[in-house]
Amino acid sequence: MEQNPLQHILEYNLDLGKTKPDTVHRDETYCPFCDVAHLKHILEKRGRMIWLENAYPVLKDSWQTLIIETNDCNGEFSDYDPEYATKLIQFGLEKWQQVKDMGKFKSVVFYRNHGYMSGGTIHHPHSQIVGFKTYDYHDDIHPYHLLGTPILTEAGIEINLSVRPIIGFYEVNLILSDKTKLDRFVRYMQVTSTYFRHSFVSFNDSYNIFFYDFPNDDKLYVKIVPRFLTNPLYVGYMIAQIANGGHSQRFIDALKKDLQKTK
Ligand SMILES: [Zn+2]
Repeated sequence: MEQNPLQHILEYNLDLGKTKPDTVHRDETYCPFCDVAHLKHILEKRGRMIWLENAYPVLKDSWQTLIIETNDCNGEFSDYDPEYATKLIQFGLEKWQQVKDMGKFKSVVFYRNHGYMSGGTIHHPHSQIVGFKTYDYHDDIHPYHLLGTPILTEAGIEINLSVRPIIGFYEVNLILSDKTKLDRFVRYMQVTSTYFRHSFVSFNDSYNIFFYDFPNDDKLYVKIVPRFLTNPLYVGYMIAQIANGGHSQRFIDALKKDLQKTK
């Protein structure tokens, strides 16, 4: 599809962005997500989960919403009780679908950040659901970005290591084709996140989770990516890199071992 490259871009309001609280990089003690009484524009509450409009809508032509995942400021997705994690992802998927069904957006993204290098500014665990009025992420992200060398395959679920990552090096893709297996799928998401946080590279606690859907495909696609400084070949030339065979295989073997231990 033809696109005007000068329009295929998101404008970020830096004036508003500068006023955003930051409990990840600055030593701020006030957490707006702990102060539930003062939260504005709440869309829905479900137990400890709250879906609300972002108080700092920095993106132009977008509708930015957040899911506050729990009342525990130091909570983290990979540590949640599995049953709670499934309920949370279920809630997120439901709200993501709801925003898509509004029919007002060219595309809707659903993702979460964790850690210093992940791009998030509020430490309190939360996910983002953002509708773009004029931007379709499918212009750039294609099903081949979610293909890879199998790490684990079972009925309704595939987990692989990207052979054509978006940036590189280790992007783990989880693909759910049987929605009744969601609890198992979420458990695997937690194991993968835990692996990145604790067993992958020491001193790296940052990662992102991204959700994708593709037209005429009812599978759920999830990408979990550990975050480091972005490599210059990507920044300068958009070249995605993968690790050489031995390293990829060691990574696959180690994560596979953890996934297979999963109850
Ligand atoms: Zn908090």
